[in-house]
Amino acid sequence: MSFDVAAIRQQFPILSQQIDGKPLVYLDNAATTQKPQAVIDALVDFYTKCNANVHRGAHHLSDEATRRYERAREQVAGFINAGSREEVIWTSGTTEGINLVARGLAERLQAGDEVVVTEMEHHANLVTWQQACLHSGATLRIAPIFDNGELDIETFKASLGPNTRMVAFPHVSNALGTVNPVKELTAMAKAYGALVLVDGAQGIAHGGVDVQALGCDFYAFSGHKLFGPTGIGVLWGKKAVLEDWPVWLTGGEMIADVTYQEATWGVLPNRLEAGTPNIAGAIGLGAAVDWFNTLDLAAVQAHESLLIESAMEQASQIAGMRLIGTAPKKVGILSFVMEKAHPADIGFILDRQGIAIRTGDNCAQPLMNRLGINGTARASFSLYNTLDEVSAFFAGLRKAQTMLG
Ligand code: PMP
Repeated sequence: MSFDVAAIRQQFPILSQQIDGKPLVYLDNAATTQKPQAVIDALVDFYTKCNANVHRGAHHLSDEATRRYERAREQVAGFINAGSREEVIWTSGTTEGINLVARGLAERLQAGDEVVVTEMEHHANLVTWQQACLHSGATLRIAPIFDNGELDIETFKASLGPNTRMVAFPHVSNALGTVNPVKELTAMAKAYGALVLVDGAQGIAHGGVDVQALGCDFYAFSGHKLFGPTGIGVLWGKKAVLEDWPVWLTGGEMIADVTYQEATWGVLPNRLEAGTPNIAGAIGLGAAVDWFNTLDLAAVQAHESLLIESAMEQASQIAGMRLIGTAPKKVGILSFVMEKAHPADIGFILDRQGIAIRTGDNCAQPLMNRLGINGTARASFSLYNTLDEVSAFFAGLRKAQTMLG
């Protein structure tokens, strides 16, 4: 299989539009990815033909909705090589998945216990653990990074110990693009018997995640960063760990028996999924996974590497542009600051040229402080971006530089 970016782009209707008469150049993929027609069709088909609640009805529509919804769970389980479908818990996104784990763990943490995260966390994987520690009396340790955005692995290792209960870190940093050596870090944590949660929000979109091979206990991600809908995500966990995990939301669907006085919990995956789920979202994510599986993963990764290498090369030729995040192992995220130009102004001028990027603190305020900056401008690439778009971005940036003086 080869990689035909033009053919891929044709499957994304949103990409062919013009913004103020200029072709859209969408470089905000780390925030959310666009949706292929196959995903849009799956959503429309569900609402057109079989919208009903799942697991409940003794009627045709409910049976068909349940069949599609549970099939999506199997598609996702296969995609990440989960041990079984029960290990795939639907959430609203990465944030909820991390909260599910942190709230549960907080019930078991006590003073003297330690949780380790890194300096490169998104707020979702920092504030959540801050709260868990605050409520339980445990201590939060922050493993440092080097100035290039790479994790300082020796110090990370030194911050682990016999009191470490949980180690949580991103597969890929949304602000820096750094790819962390998940297996290696997990093995270090496991040497102390700690649980490991990987924030996979950015790691999942590049394909090839095998949760069993990583060795972690939890892997959380969002459907919308994987060409699927918003409002649906996945918490993968090892079955033995999830089976015993404190329930987070209570209500319908997750119970076994209920009296006016008490209740017992059902079995996985439902015991961690109270209430009516995002049925259409799950089906849409299943379609996204099916669509992604039609691609040649090696070709996708080669194409994405080409984009970031070209971007890094072109960035090196722009005076006054400083890249934030230059770790040797990095995916298609180009965060930067420019002399004499505020990120928000750069974003505004690029937007006038149809170029969409993100500006601000990247939901990582402590990381920005650590790096001595207020925020960045960030272009993030996906498999449907082209080398021409990378060049259009740099042409736009030069224009912004001229205008901002
Ligand atoms: N972690 C990382 C690394 C992210 O990039 C994001 C999304 N920007 C999140 C967590 C949170 O994802 P969501 O908002 O979809 O829950």
